[in-house]
Amino acid sequence: MSRDSDEKNNTASARPIRAIGVLGAGTMGHGIAQVAAAAGYTVVLRDVNAEALARGVQSIERNLSKAIQLGKIVEQQRDETLQRIHGATRFDEIRDVDLVIEAAPENLELKQSLLRELEALVDTNCIFATNTSSLSIGEIASAASRPENVVGMHFFNPVHIMRLVEIIVGARTSASVTESVREVATRMKKEPIIVRDVPGFASSRLGVTLGLEAMRMVEQGVASPRDIDTAMELGYNHPMGPLRLTDLVGLDVRLNIAEYLYRKLGSDTFRPPEILRRMVSEGKLGKKSGEGFYNWGEPEKSQRASIS
Ligand code: NAD
Repeated sequence: MSRDSDEKNNTASARPIRAIGVLGAGTMGHGIAQVAAAAGYTVVLRDVNAEALARGVQSIERNLSKAIQLGKIVEQQRDETLQRIHGATRFDEIRDVDLVIEAAPENLELKQSLLRELEALVDTNCIFATNTSSLSIGEIASAASRPENVVGMHFFNPVHIMRLVEIIVGARTSASVTESVREVATRMKKEPIIVRDVPGFASSRLGVTLGLEAMRMVEQGVASPRDIDTAMELGYNHPMGPLRLTDLVGLDVRLNIAEYLYRKLGSDTFRPPEILRRMVSEGKLGKKSGEGFYNWGEPEKSQRASIS
């Protein structure tokens, strides 16, 4: 059935998904592979870098051992989950999957070229879901010969713990593709939300707004970072205040996102505050550099943000 008639009749049904390919075994990819395998899917986890692949698999093993210690799963579940994951470094090893979730670095050209390579390899019904945190699904899909198969599946870090998945529906994404990934996310025990393909999707747009306003309040001397965070934690039940979260994400990462949203949406809400620019230029990047709105002590060895 065509996408138009799908939508007109509201009859879109999900495609059967048995095997999932995950591209990239880094921070996000290994977590996505883990939750997919735990949900019963056969998973091919592919990274171009054999060491990154081995690190990704070790992280999955560690997460599962921790889950056993916490009494969340038993040893048999760990073993079954691990057995469903097949590591790969060659692209053609993901030929037989029904859905590919791409978690390669945030680069438009790379994601487009992966999509083109994939289309030449897999069945015409195979779905391409990208875990991009900021790129337009429409732009990624513009490289595809089957753009109706392209959708966003935005997971959060750490994937095995965070329950939200934003499903980003591009202008040409078919209703059956949206329904398929919604079902997959639910089977992974996630809470999917459906969002139109707009800059910042739903989560970043709101989260960044709160963070930038909190910075403007520090700039204006309204209250200390700790007190501003406490206002949100105790007054609004946020698990973490916006400035502490900014320190974890990385001030440089936040600045990039704010600049991007300001450029794309043109609203002053996203104009980066002076304090943010100054702190980034002084190397105060948050937890990873040892100092941001809080003092974190020694800088982290890996200079990578853990949340975006
Ligand atoms: P990462 O750098 O930790 O991992 C990327 C992995 O992709 C690396 O292991 C790299 O070797 C591998 N890779 C590079 N080229 C590849 C290719 N052609 N095929 C297969 N693997 C390839 O990156 P990440 O933080 O996991 O981010 C991945 C994606 O997820 C990005 O689009 C990012 O914006 C998005 N994202 C990240 C977070 C986060 O908190 N880190 C949160 C949500 C979304």
